[in-house]
Amino acid sequence: MILIKNGTILTLEGNEFFTGDLAIKDSRIFYVGKSKKWDVEFDTVIDGTDFIVMPGFVNTHTHLAMVLMRGIADDIELHKWLNDVIFPIEGKLTKDDVYFGSLLASIESIKSGVTTVADFYFHMDAVFNAVKEAGIRANLGFGLASKFDFDTVKLKVATDFVKKYNDREDGRILASFAPHAPYTCTLKFMEAIAKRAKEMGVLVHTHLHETEKEIVDFKKQYGITPIQKLASVGFFGAKVNAAHCVYMSAEDYKVLKEHNVGVALNPQSNLKLGSGIPDVPEMLKYELNLGVGTDGASSNNNLILLEDMRLVSFLAKGLSRDPQLLPADELLRIATVSGAKNIGFSDVGLLKEGYKADIILINKNSETLTPFTNPHSLVAYSMRPGDVDTVIINGKLVMQHRKVLTVDEETVKKEVRKHYKRLINS
Ligand SMILES: [Zn+2]
Repeated sequence: MILIKNGTILTLEGNEFFTGDLAIKDSRIFYVGKSKKWDVEFDTVIDGTDFIVMPGFVNTHTHLAMVLMRGIADDIELHKWLNDVIFPIEGKLTKDDVYFGSLLASIESIKSGVTTVADFYFHMDAVFNAVKEAGIRANLGFGLASKFDFDTVKLKVATDFVKKYNDREDGRILASFAPHAPYTCTLKFMEAIAKRAKEMGVLVHTHLHETEKEIVDFKKQYGITPIQKLASVGFFGAKVNAAHCVYMSAEDYKVLKEHNVGVALNPQSNLKLGSGIPDVPEMLKYELNLGVGTDGASSNNNLILLEDMRLVSFLAKGLSRDPQLLPADELLRIATVSGAKNIGFSDVGLLKEGYKADIILINKNSETLTPFTNPHSLVAYSMRPGDVDTVIINGKLVMQHRKVLTVDEETVKKEVRKHYKRLINS
């Protein structure tokens, strides 16, 4: 049992904050409210006086192991980036590469206040081992691409992965199906994957409408957009988390709203790859279920969700020319509870009794939080990753005073350097 005493508490249920206590039993919050006298014996008591206490951030779209490729493929557009640089390197990735890359990515996430990630990639057994050890919450998608309509072998391997890894580690790790995109999978294959995911009650995580080229090519073949075509074959009968959604028509937005699709906004990746700008004001107008992602570190080039979250806010305000659009507390909900729901965690992202104890403590005395004014604003617009002091995930301390407790950071960095070298020189 853990008690955080006298913290500045942001529950994110509204825009209020107060000085109070938060108590954790096993993996859940059992008290959040005004400071009081306790006659319960706690294993750990944390003095929260100097900290903001709030839910951890949720990264709803990333590819953890791509930290191995950061900085080696800049200034190229998406399709060239994929075909000329990324796919050839990915062809050489071993399980061990992916394992150590995912461990480093988990460390980077935790140290910047991210307590949940939605990843999809390959060698997913290795990703499972990494997130299990790092202690981070994750939804792991089995990445799929196929030129064949009925790729029963791939579908079976993915199904076995989901069966084996869904709902593990006391619900901390979920598994999902992840068809890469409509331009790397056939329509019939996408349809079959969604049908299987619906039967098994798990998430489909995919890339949709990322570049203009993708829409133009698809329309040449089918006459309508990927989103509208996928809707016509029942793809959105499954619960879907769609990354990007940059090139969208009014009809596309309506489809996403009607089918309750989660949108993972990755504005830094879209801007850096020259793909375009997600229309955040339109998405807010259609009241879509929004979350924030970083995408992989090879197109961002880091996993610091704070940066993408801030950019979502600035795009909302800048594109609409309305600074009142998306106030700080609403932005924080998109980056926490709303994103968590999009990727299958219904009891994550608020400080509320019964919710999972995924909590971060932010240093109120740092230079970027001084003077201490409005905590929602300070977190949304001012704080830096280094201001995160302590991280609790699923009721367990995973970082204290900026030291990750679950894995040895220096050993992981050393291994990543070694694996990167082999990858580049092979
Ligand atoms: Zn992606």
